[in-house]
Amino acid sequence: MQQYAIPIANLIEQLSKLPGIGRKTAQRLAFFILEMDDLDAEKLSKSITNAKEKIKLCSICCNLTDVDPCQMCQNTQRDKSIICVVEGAKDIIAMERSREYKGEYHVLHGVISPMENVGPNDIKVKELLSRLSDGTVKEIIIATNPTVEGEATALYLSKLIKPLDVKVTRIAHGIPVGGDLEYFDEVTLSKAMENRREL
Ligand SMILES: [Zn+2]
Repeated sequence: MQQYAIPIANLIEQLSKLPGIGRKTAQRLAFFILEMDDLDAEKLSKSITNAKEKIKLCSICCNLTDVDPCQMCQNTQRDKSIICVVEGAKDIIAMERSREYKGEYHVLHGVISPMENVGPNDIKVKELLSRLSDGTVKEIIIATNPTVEGEATALYLSKLIKPLDVKVTRIAHGIPVGGDLEYFDEVTLSKAMENRREL
């Protein structure tokens, strides 16, 4: 059986590590990249290293950013008394699409999942708590996904935050359990924000 040349095999292997990319798709992408003109292929590889190099976590909200604090945290027009807690940076983009929310965000970078050995110390909980120390924040809206882990994380956070005299609410989900915030439309998301309930 004929084997791929090692550089091609490596490329396929790396591409197949991407989410949603199986072996077949990785092969197709690898051959597509090899067919690209040199300049485009270089732009692609440079954009990966450049993004990895320049993008850091905001020291306040833990969002991905190339400036610190991030633009959202620097924006004086946003309501500093409310923080919407999300699982990942991409959820902020989804929330912003709804155009309803004008508060701040906090990115957890995951959810608590005993099955996968992810505990509170593995996500940005400590960073969230440190934002609550000066009394500016009056409400925390927990917008983790409606999965088992997302709900467990919401409960954990509410137990932790309530004693600090901060209101804790959970966005309503007119959306299927197991769903992913990223894929909800603006209407569903703004409804979910509107109908949030106290935890
Ligand atoms: Zn920030």
